[in-house]
Amino acid sequence: MSQVFGSNSIDIPSKESFWSVYQTIKNIPGLNIMEKLWASYYVYMDNDLFATGLLFFLLHEIMYFGRCIPWYIIDRTPYFKKYKIQPNHYPSDKEQWECTKSVLKSHFFVEAFPIWFFHPICEKIGVSYDVPFPSLLTMFYQITIFFFLEDAWHYWFHRGIHYGSFYRIIHKQHHRYAAPFGLAAEYAHPIEVMLLGFGTVGIPIVWCYFTRNLHLFTICVWITLRLFQAIDAHSGYEFPISLHHFLFIWAGADHHDEHHHHFIGNYASSFRLWDYFLDTEAGDTAKQTREKINKTKAEKTAKVQVSAEK
Ligand SMILES: [Zn+2]
Ligand SMILES: [Zn+2]
Repeated sequence: MSQVFGSNSIDIPSKESFWSVYQTIKNIPGLNIMEKLWASYYVYMDNDLFATGLLFFLLHEIMYFGRCIPWYIIDRTPYFKKYKIQPNHYPSDKEQWECTKSVLKSHFFVEAFPIWFFHPICEKIGVSYDVPFPSLLTMFYQITIFFFLEDAWHYWFHRGIHYGSFYRIIHKQHHRYAAPFGLAAEYAHPIEVMLLGFGTVGIPIVWCYFTRNLHLFTICVWITLRLFQAIDAHSGYEFPISLHHFLFIWAGADHHDEHHHHFIGNYASSFRLWDYFLDTEAGDTAKQTREKINKTKAEKTAKVQVSAEK
């Protein structure tokens, strides 16, 4: 078969092993190792729909469980107890195993199906999966935009599923653990998985629909970073080197831990902005500030009423 990579056309015999495909592709000038591996993978698979589906399924499994393992070890290491946000609440092995089974069920029975529609959708709206990849600057600005858009999506829909029946039917499952741990990040009802998952997967698709400028590799990096953010936010640990100490708008674990602890407030995923400006911060300090503001407002209104009556 003949494959075209940028301005290079290259002949690759079919039914080759991955290694021999790579040996041919590695001679294409101007590609870095990641781009060569990416191109070799798509040529070797010889079925783009299956290649993308498998890639995203494996990426999700490896990145999710790979990121949870260090948190499991930290939970079992007494040294780290001083950094635990709720030091008296550790998940038991039984709880972690129940959670893992439920998350795996969701991955196989809820997410594995729509994943096969991903490649045709990407092709239709012009998501590129060719090599070379876009520049680091392009990936950086697009992923930054996705973080802010996903955060807004997450804030409003997460806040929405805290209301009445929505909470009881959909979101209650995720709140089973008042002291969260990494594996609990995706422990949720299938409707919640699809609804909040749209913020991660759907937003790049909508972005590409309007801009016609997005690469599949950028989506892979974005999904990986978003998974890390969600798992770390559920880790239950706050370190002196946690990102929000340096990037003050970053939410981090203490922000989401408060949400699980108090059940209300702190609805955003990655940043503290929505909760700060819309006065939905969780926790005792935020509650006291809110009560103080409400009290001042009520006193002012009462004063205005008294002077109007005079
Ligand atoms: Zn919630
Ligand atoms: Zn949560």
